[in-house]
Amino acid sequence: MEKLLNELPSSDIPAYNIKSDVGIDVKIPESLRRNLALGLPSIAESDLLRHFTNLSRENYALSTGFYPLGSCTMKYNPLINERISKNEAFTLIHPYQPIESVQGTLEIMYEFGRDLCELTGMDYFSLQQAAGAHGEFAGLLMIAEYFKSVNQVRTKIIVPDSAHGTNPSSAFFAGFDIVHLESEVDGSISPRKLKEILTKEVAAIMLTVPNTLGVFEKSILEISKIVHENGSLLYYDGANLNALMGIVRPGDMGFDIMHINLHKTFAAPHGGGGPGSGPVGVKAFLEPFLPIPRIEKNKYSEFVLNYKKSESIGRLKAFFGNFLIILRSYIYIKALGAEGLKNVSERAVLNANYMLARFKNRINVPAGDRCMHEFVLSLKLLLKNNIRTLDVSKRLLDYGFYAPTIYFPLIVEEAMMIEPTETESKEMLDDFIDVLIKIIFEEAVLEPQKLNEAPINMNIKRLNEVEAARKPILRWK
Ligand SMILES: *Cc1c(COP(=O)(O)O)cnc(C)c1O
Repeated sequence: MEKLLNELPSSDIPAYNIKSDVGIDVKIPESLRRNLALGLPSIAESDLLRHFTNLSRENYALSTGFYPLGSCTMKYNPLINERISKNEAFTLIHPYQPIESVQGTLEIMYEFGRDLCELTGMDYFSLQQAAGAHGEFAGLLMIAEYFKSVNQVRTKIIVPDSAHGTNPSSAFFAGFDIVHLESEVDGSISPRKLKEILTKEVAAIMLTVPNTLGVFEKSILEISKIVHENGSLLYYDGANLNALMGIVRPGDMGFDIMHINLHKTFAAPHGGGGPGSGPVGVKAFLEPFLPIPRIEKNKYSEFVLNYKKSESIGRLKAFFGNFLIILRSYIYIKALGAEGLKNVSERAVLNANYMLARFKNRINVPAGDRCMHEFVLSLKLLLKNNIRTLDVSKRLLDYGFYAPTIYFPLIVEEAMMIEPTETESKEMLDDFIDVLIKIIFEEAVLEPQKLNEAPINMNIKRLNEVEAARKPILRWK
């Protein structure tokens, strides 16, 4: 180690005279120069390789097991998409390249926007936003600009209590006040209750369809009529679009504005906070407010970037969005085609209903008989054995399954939200159901202590999550 350090350049080697990217010599001032060599550890390549390989083996991923994370749609992403999107033609381009040299890239984004319009019934899309929540924020800023342009003061956004937490927070950050709407037991909206809180101050209502309990909003056309008659708009949270592709379109249900989480509905490995993409779609009357630059086609059929949109909410992200995520999604929908996408949704719904059917006579399912692509169990019957949903989900890890989403939506007590997605086999679904039933009906009765302590077989045992959130240790040493 010492020897290695001695071999590293010391401060008087003129390596500090560097050429800047515009070709000028830059001399780093004496006071800012390092006078000790970097303390890089020295380690054999084989040891390093083994260290990282062993670490990666402790990761849980879709390539190692089932990932039934409700609401997040953690779906299998075909590897061919990864391969194509890693092509240097895409990875080596630079956003400052002359526009003539990136016509193909712009064409992909332009076409993808048109495809999203066809899939959703919207008229225009912006691909700039980096996630679903970012899309919501963009959408709400546009709603605010729209009402300014028609000289109406509307300061409120209605959000049902079954909504994802990002809905009220996006509305708040866009400057609105939130009006909570109490939903029914199955998460759906009662048009009567909606009417009671719908005033002339309401700019829009944000709805997730199917809702976070996996139930399609059966009164959506009536709701849409009531909201529009009040002069308010309908915002569609597209996180659950995986249930509806090729079957019904938000634009046809009456929604004026929406986002899609490309990382959920199409192909982009996600989790751990990114990367994502949340394109925003609008009906034609909201087009002037979309973020800039807009990718457009001129009269010579060349793709251009239009920055001259005086009513636009402006720019929300550097450059043009997460292009490689957009690209993966483009490849995914082109590979599947219209029929294939419909098939994705039908199978996602079928898989979820198969699981629900095996659970429903044994475990409380507040939303009832049928579901769309996901469903929510309530495990409150276990509270009497001093067992919470958290314990059950930790025990699933011992059996090699990723735990589903828990304690969401908030309107279900001791919620466990399961979303199998379209690509899991019946054998995998049965294995998971058998294990969950064993945990709930055998282990919880015979060995409750074990569940309280789970996970037992993992390298890392039960963490104190409250402590970890309040006093996170962010350094290794
Ligand atoms: C995931 C999700 C969001 C937020 O999307 P991000 O891409 O994580 O920002 C919003 N609403 C619902 C219903 C979701 O499931």
